[in-house]
Amino acid sequence: QRLNLVAFCQHLIQQQQVENETYQRVVFSSEQSTALLWTDPILLEQVLDNLISNALKYSGGSETPVEVSLTQAPREYVLMVKDYGIGIPADAVEHVCKSFYRAWNVTEYPGTGLGLSLSHRIVELLGGSLAIESQQNQYTLCTVRLPRQEVS
Ligand code: ATP
Ligand code: MG
Repeated sequence: QRLNLVAFCQHLIQQQQVENETYQRVVFSSEQSTALLWTDPILLEQVLDNLISNALKYSGGSETPVEVSLTQAPREYVLMVKDYGIGIPADAVEHVCKSFYRAWNVTEYPGTGLGLSLSHRIVELLGGSLAIESQQNQYTLCTVRLPRQEVS
């Protein structure tokens, strides 16, 4: 299905903010107003919902809003979700996409440890990649790269 990633992201963010009662805690930015992509909206929604809900959950009382951004390259779209919360301990970063894995600094937060594992697999199914970068107590940045399919 062909969708406009810009409108898609804005819609998801609005929906999440209503559900979590966290108005104005997510800001979205995009250079363009349209970004057409041929993809599965239900799968992509799961990925973004997981990343944004993690960013909100692990913001740990930080005043800085979660940032979601979309940039366009000739061959791919790049979606980033960044928060300025508790971060991921350095030795845990490489494990966070494993099923049921949870870092030691999140024991006070609820969760199963499946969101990122699922997201990672879905993004690969969609032909893209998911990368996680973090500094503990500073930030976490999740980068989703989605190839732009040729639509004839
Ligand atoms: P759930 O299955 O409900 O999503 P979860 O959030 O614990 O549970 P994942 O989303 O798979 O599981 O994330 C795995 C682990 O990665 C988390 O438990 C946490 O340790 C770490 N993590 C993921 N996102 C962030 C983030 N934005 N900030 C800090 N730690 C994070
Ligand atoms: Mg999660």
